Amino acid sequence: MYNLDTSVNKLTRVGNITAKQLNKLDINTVYDLIYYFPFRYEDFSQIVLIKDLQPQQLVTVKGKVILINNHRSFKKRMVITEALLDDDSGTIKIIWFNQPFLIKNIKIGDTLFISGKAELNRLGLQFVSPTYEKTVSQTVNTAKIIPVYSVTEKLTQKQLRFLINLALKSLPLLNDWLPEKIINKYQLLPLVKALQEIHFPSDFKLLDQARYRLKFNELFLIQLQSQLNRQFLSKNQAPPIKFKKKEIKKFVTNLPFTLTNDQKKAAWQILLDLEKKQPTNRLLEGDVGSGKTVVAALAILNIILNKYQAVLMAPTEILAKQHYYSLIKFFNDFNLTIALLTSSDQLINNKAKISKKELVEEIKNGQVDLIIGTHALIQASISYKNLGLVVVDEQHRFGVEQRKKIKQKNKNKKSPHFLSMTATPIPRSLALILYGDLDLSIIKELPKGRKKIITKLVAENKREQAYQFIRQEIDKGQQVFVICPLIDASDKLGVKSVNEEFKKLDQQVFPDLKIGLLHGKLKSQEKEKIMKEMKDNKINILVSTSVVEVGIDIPNATIMMIEGADRFGLAQLHQFRGRVGRGQEQAYCFLFTDNYSAKTRQRLLALVKSSDGFALAEYDLKFRGPGEVFGTQQSGLPSFKIADFTDLDLIAITKKEAQEFFTGNDLTDYPLLVNKLAQLKVIGHLE
Ligand code: ADP
Ligand code: MG
Repeated sequence: MYNLDTSVNKLTRVGNITAKQLNKLDINTVYDLIYYFPFRYEDFSQIVLIKDLQPQQLVTVKGKVILINNHRSFKKRMVITEALLDDDSGTIKIIWFNQPFLIKNIKIGDTLFISGKAELNRLGLQFVSPTYEKTVSQTVNTAKIIPVYSVTEKLTQKQLRFLINLALKSLPLLNDWLPEKIINKYQLLPLVKALQEIHFPSDFKLLDQARYRLKFNELFLIQLQSQLNRQFLSKNQAPPIKFKKKEIKKFVTNLPFTLTNDQKKAAWQILLDLEKKQPTNRLLEGDVGSGKTVVAALAILNIILNKYQAVLMAPTEILAKQHYYSLIKFFNDFNLTIALLTSSDQLINNKAKISKKELVEEIKNGQVDLIIGTHALIQASISYKNLGLVVVDEQHRFGVEQRKKIKQKNKNKKSPHFLSMTATPIPRSLALILYGDLDLSIIKELPKGRKKIITKLVAENKREQAYQFIRQEIDKGQQVFVICPLIDASDKLGVKSVNEEFKKLDQQVFPDLKIGLLHGKLKSQEKEKIMKEMKDNKINILVSTSVVEVGIDIPNATIMMIEGADRFGLAQLHQFRGRVGRGQEQAYCFLFTDNYSAKTRQRLLALVKSSDGFALAEYDLKFRGPGEVFGTQQSGLPSFKIADFTDLDLIAITKKEAQEFFTGNDLTDYPLLVNKLAQLKVIGHLE
């Protein structure tokens, strides 16, 4: 038996190559194997006699091999292995292509399970490339409900099933951390049983129960996090911040534009929040371009007027820099000290470069009012004299751990107020049950005078025309984004798909233009460099995956072209679209798909018609269901392993249970649960 943390390269039959393939799927240990769930199943549980075989039915037969040999196909290119299987009721022919080694594994006289569909041709029924397995007491590939996993090109289902089956032998080492009371109340399967059944179900009923149990685990943990946050917030003191009406008014009147009503309302909610003694925990949601930054600026200004410091964190260095310059502009009339602190840049007040050491010292002494950087600011070894507010762009929530870390860095020992901003349109109903600990402000209204982005679903035979149009725009000096979907699970970083698209555009379609390439495998420095080139108009067309954050202001970009559009959620497509049309020129979004079903068309047409991100998210939630709505790559959203956003009942149940558990119990009486939360880095180890 292996330990749960034994790394996969120590397992039987795993060499370097296989280990690498497993690592690509984020499988590094025995534990990871156990938690790598199938995405579908094949029902081979029905075992039939050869004489009763019907064409095109998914079945298993069991028989003895009475003949097996290899020969070459007519064209000499392919090795064909032919076998004859006999089960006393009859015989059937089996063929496999290009697996000459099979005759070494399968010998005359062996008893085999064969699972697949029998096909009818001129010569009768035969199995073509079925799954086979020698009869053993416990099969993993045939003769029952068989799991199908996402695999890589070089990793087969058979290999993965073998390894997962091996890993499952370590199940007894796993602790069931869910409180027994809850397990009993909902008659949940024991964890070990659930994990066994999710991989190799005995029947579909048990599979359902296994799923329910594992979803329960996942959602219960998320709800516990909310409760922990709540507890932290209620126990902690935040600096109370007075609403400085006079100065705030001056700021608002001096803006080059009028705030929308939604902006005013959100700002008002936040400013009232800050007056409280408990730390604010608010999520500001608003479509791309809805003007969240200026709302955050109002909160920041109010904090600084109260003599506290503020921090603003962005997902990338380039976005941090963008915020730095826009805030310097916003605060032009106020005498504030604003700094940019990233690993490549340390700037202060638009004038001077400053050494990192000096800047860190000034922050510590309270000489800097506002510090702008990346999310890494939370980790960095920086301390604050008097931190009052942390604003985070594009991350939905803070864990208790992050809060504690920041609190420790704060010399006044208070927990600062927190404001998150996101362009992901999570419907209010969903946000409320999923993030019970958060307050929510929503900006629905876009600033006046924004041009609508013209969106078109482009048929394949109009592709040439679209390219011509793109060329015209580029001739006018505009720029273009091309987004490609991920090809398969192994292509997590999207390297494969963008590479192909890049090659096509670079070599065939636009050989004379400068094409850029961006994907998840690039180092962050390389990404930043490419984004900078795009910003400086040194790239005409940027081919990119969805993985990469491109939420940056490039006013010059007017065309967003999306390949395989059907593979994205509407809300996500809407976000891509929001990356163009930030300047004066008319902007366009072209959607391509090779899925011509009426349903797909209708979905994509919703995007053509509507420019309301929330409406689109609701539409997808209703018609498409599962977590695909927001795409799994969205930052901040919990990336569910097994549960999804349509499990509303279970979300409600786990919420109730987490609340009750939290009021009725002391967490330290549940060391297994505490351990689990610590593993997930939700809380520190046994504190
Ligand atoms: P996002 O919500 O996507 O972060 P930003 O805060 O970057 O949007 O705002 C997008 C642009 O709109 C910025 O140039 C900003 O100055 C401008 N803006 C914000 N509010 C308004 C408004 N009420 N009227 C006109 N322009 C605005
Ligand atoms: Mg923004």
